[in-house]
Amino acid sequence: MQNLGVFNLAFVVMLVLSFIIRAPYHYRSEKLKKVRSQITLKERLNFILVFTGSMTLPLLYLFSPWFNFANYSVNPYLGGVGVIFAAFGLWLFWRSHKDLGVQFSPMLEIRESHKLVVNGVYEKVRHPMYTSVFILSFAQALLVGNWVVGPAYFLAFLSLYIFRVNHEEKLMLSLYGGEYSEYIKRTGRLFPLLRNT
Ligand code: SAH
Repeated sequence: MQNLGVFNLAFVVMLVLSFIIRAPYHYRSEKLKKVRSQITLKERLNFILVFTGSMTLPLLYLFSPWFNFANYSVNPYLGGVGVIFAAFGLWLFWRSHKDLGVQFSPMLEIRESHKLVVNGVYEKVRHPMYTSVFILSFAQALLVGNWVVGPAYFLAFLSLYIFRVNHEEKLMLSLYGGEYSEYIKRTGRLFPLLRNT
């Protein structure tokens, strides 16, 4: 390991736990039959970008000297905030996978017996899993003392989010019509709405 320190250790724990949380859902979704797929070239490219920012670059940072030129030492207060972000992000990442269940898919796809989920962490927010990924990407930026690898996850996910979220909502609208437009009215995209209705 190239850069061993307490914040790097926290980051490795975050990386491993997020992998463990996602793996069974990923595996289950692969086994279900696809009934509709919206995987375009842009979607694929964004997916590869996110994988690079959240896995490939961090592993190279941890196990090779390639990114040492961009290293800096993490401010302990910012690192502490990073640990809090990682803990909350992981909790929300786990809860949103649990609530979405078999509806989860890593790319824009609909599998057999797909149902609209509007409860649990989906009750007030339409994309809690994306919220959790943003939080985890902030945690990476705060915990990893490297100007290239730290912000890579956030930038890659921002690109995927901007590209995907409208397509995803259109897909949900085409499947669930009025039920989804009512759901849009009472929920926020990444955070609950402030007004009470
Ligand atoms: N955008 C959601 C889900 C991410 S997983 C979130 O951030 O929490 C992506 C898949 O979830 C998409 O293929 C879509 O088919 C499905 N999906 C998104 N919102 C859903 C919902 N409310 N109910 C059921 N499936 C949903």
